[in-house]
Amino acid sequence: MDLDETIKKLQNGEMKLHEIEKYSSSIKEAIDIRRKYLEEITSLKLDKISDYTIDMSSASKKNIENPIGTIQIPVGIAGPLKINGDHINDEIYVPLATSEGALVASVNRGCSTITASGGVNTKIIDDKMTRAPAIKTKSISEAIDVKKWFEDNILKLKEIAESTTNHGKLLNIDPILIVGNYVYPRFVYSTGDSMGMNMVTIATEKILNMLLNEKDVQLIALSGNVCADKKPSGINMIEGRGKTVTAEVIIPYHIVENKLKTTAAAIVEVNIVKNLIGSAAAGSMGFNAHYANMIGAIFLATGQDIAHITEGSLGITTAEERNGDLYFSVNIPDLPIATIGGGTSLDTANECLNILGVAGSGNVKKFAEIVVATVLAGELSLIGALAAGHLARAHKNLGRA
Ligand code: NAP
Repeated sequence: MDLDETIKKLQNGEMKLHEIEKYSSSIKEAIDIRRKYLEEITSLKLDKISDYTIDMSSASKKNIENPIGTIQIPVGIAGPLKINGDHINDEIYVPLATSEGALVASVNRGCSTITASGGVNTKIIDDKMTRAPAIKTKSISEAIDVKKWFEDNILKLKEIAESTTNHGKLLNIDPILIVGNYVYPRFVYSTGDSMGMNMVTIATEKILNMLLNEKDVQLIALSGNVCADKKPSGINMIEGRGKTVTAEVIIPYHIVENKLKTTAAAIVEVNIVKNLIGSAAAGSMGFNAHYANMIGAIFLATGQDIAHITEGSLGITTAEERNGDLYFSVNIPDLPIATIGGGTSLDTANECLNILGVAGSGNVKKFAEIVVATVLAGELSLIGALAAGHLARAHKNLGRA
């Protein structure tokens, strides 16, 4: 493919950006042409974006459109982190991708505190993925009739949903909200080791085809925001979405003093005044210090859908003093994650999942326990630093070198 001629065609609109692959001999050639076109019209040199190692021909089939290369984000490890869970009983190193200096060091300090204390206990309380379309009827009576239709046909609907997937299961429809003449059935699925959003969307669409054949209603949107996908929401906080996970640790008083340079009482006070009262005063939905930091860094490293960091940011941290020792827990109601599908097969994501020993089928519950354990490590370290009054010093030394 002649580069100059192609750039000319792109400039005069004879060829569209997404058509380059059709006329190229390889994905690499298409990527290079698209980037060079961008360099031409912006007068930039994009030498770093062009320098990549992942398999872009695979990525361009399912992960990215109009590719021009990749970006790179530094990745570090924190650990060893001892986890006493139902799906993992081990000491591990956690890969964290971030550009926030001090984050890995802080999580690492939390890991060291936890491991010296015998480890963090982790539990999965619930596991599901949801999709809630918006359906329009002509009246409240018809909306109630549609709600009843879903309830009466649940067994048939399960069959239809499960005909679209080998691993997805329709568990129930809960709640079925009615707002005036609109109905929002929240379909609840289990999705195996995938995060499941594509899976449940495909299954839900097939169910709605049956509804539209039988009832005189209108589908306004396949996703009607009661799901609630990629937004912090009360419904997910209460009902849960993705994995609902919790972790706890007891830190002996001498380890609180030696590692965190503070006391259990000071940590309890920071948790109450900051995470509980401060969050309430601000109208925040996350009653925690920074779950999003650890979740974001793990999501970036392991190829998760990063928009779901918004959901993972929900949750409540608790802290108690027990005879000078510290009891500390984190609680995440809404953690959509995967070890299969989405971005998890990107080469660097796959390597990071392998560091954790969770790549592929049969591993998502272990991965969920690792994520909540890591969140506890980072949360403990930050609250400890605030209690000891040295947060600003740590950031000055590590983030402004
Ligand atoms: P997916 O990659 O679309 O689907 C997972 C695939 O893995 C399915 O084909 C499934 O087969 C297969 N699979 C093999 N082994 C599996 C196992 N052990 N457990 C589960 N599945 C297994 O991924 P997804 O999780 O459904 O969707 C994730 C993607 O959706 C992400 O890229 C995300 O960004 C995107 N997303 C979509 C929406 C939307 O509204 N559509 C919204 C947000 C995000 P079977 O189906 O036959 O079981």
